Amino acid sequence: MTEQITPLDERDGPRDECGVFGIYAPEHDVSRLAYFALYALQHRGQESAGIAAADRGGYIITQRALGLVNQVFKEHDLRALAGDLTIGHVRYSTTGSNEWENSQPVHRSAGANGNRELALAHNGNLINAVELHAELRAQGVQFSSTSDSEIIAALISTNPAEKLEDAVADVLPRLKGAFSTVVMTNDKVVAFRDPAGLRPLSLGQLDGRFCVASETCAFDIIGAKAMRDVLPGEVVTLSEKGLSTKQVVSGEREAFCVFEYIYFARPDSRMNGELLQAARGRMGEILARDAPVPGADLVIAVPDSGNPAARGFARAAGLPQDDGLIKNRYVARTFIQPGQELRKHGLRLKFNPLPEIVGGKKLVVVDDSIVRGNTTRQIVQMLRDAGAAEVHMRISAPPIKHPCFYGIDMSKREEMIAHNRTPAEVAAELGADSLAYLSLAGVYEAVNGDRARHCDACFSGEYPLPGTEAGQAKDAFELPLASSGV
Ligand code: SF4
Repeated sequence: MTEQITPLDERDGPRDECGVFGIYAPEHDVSRLAYFALYALQHRGQESAGIAAADRGGYIITQRALGLVNQVFKEHDLRALAGDLTIGHVRYSTTGSNEWENSQPVHRSAGANGNRELALAHNGNLINAVELHAELRAQGVQFSSTSDSEIIAALISTNPAEKLEDAVADVLPRLKGAFSTVVMTNDKVVAFRDPAGLRPLSLGQLDGRFCVASETCAFDIIGAKAMRDVLPGEVVTLSEKGLSTKQVVSGEREAFCVFEYIYFARPDSRMNGELLQAARGRMGEILARDAPVPGADLVIAVPDSGNPAARGFARAAGLPQDDGLIKNRYVARTFIQPGQELRKHGLRLKFNPLPEIVGGKKLVVVDDSIVRGNTTRQIVQMLRDAGAAEVHMRISAPPIKHPCFYGIDMSKREEMIAHNRTPAEVAAELGADSLAYLSLAGVYEAVNGDRARHCDACFSGEYPLPGTEAGQAKDAFELPLASSGV
């Protein structure tokens, strides 16, 4: 067995992003609803969680901390957060000393630097954060974090418009990049989405009141009904008057993140009308059609992310499917490091192969993406050690070759295994007998999508927003600001 291991706190896939939720519903225990909605969105960010709540006309109370939703909030916290309206956030962050300061919701008080008290939570990444930050600093606006989310909050809180939704409508066209955002004062929740619609945001209904969430799975858990996606460039207001909406920017090139369908979102969420579990199954079917493995004995998934596509592959290829790898679902980033004695077992802390299932078999191993390849390389070796005769990797996404500037941490180009390598060269690097990826055309076929309305820049290198300028934007943004609204 190889001695090389991936540290347990180092994921091989793209880093998760963030999840947001907001609701106006005085008849309900809104902070409890936010808690469960965030619990459903936990997969979008495991490093910090926060909820802000207010009674109509009262102060906004915000609680946020590092940790999972159920670690951050206890029963007495939810009681203290009682109110009529609330917003919430789960976050994946970049590392650094400012982690707590960069957790959300961001809370800005009314006062010297702000015209209105508000709390704000954001999923995405601004590509003009440095300019906006410099402009606000020149006006004397103070910041307590290095997050682009606080820039959005500062712009809205200092905007002179009387109504929150008018301030948002004024600020929205000045923001460049990806921003699915919820913001609240003490009487309303306003949600808005960037004009390209890069990150998801859905609108739901609960007993005549309204809510918004990054994914529809958050509505299912609180008994709300999904209504529709918030439109790119749209501002929706949830208040005592019900729901009002305003299309602030329209006619821009839409660019919904195609990776949401492939990997980020939960399989029981719906995006653009598609149930993701079904779309991922179709990706596996198309992969089997376009990149078959003649003479294969068995299809296995890299659990859990590869499960739907593996089922689709097996279905289309007429091959049996089984669990060849068992995943320990409780390995978290905060896991105690294994130490020298256990280190040689490497990835077995996360995946354990079943020799009785894979032994002597010509295997098709399906996963949903490869970024650096460290985990995949170890899985291939682990399956060989367990007796697999051949290991053929099939990936239900195209090769990832370019970084994301819209809120996903993808590693640097040089660290990506597909960067400057052909699939055959990647297969050799991984020690696999063969490797094939789903084509971009196959992805769009699976999601019934139109490429002109999506972003696929991490595969194609074609960034949909003018001014993204690969490399430059990321470098400029990281100095002096760290991304946090992911
Ligand atoms: S670059 Fe990739 S991960 Fe980022 S928004 Fe575009 S498709 Fe999504």
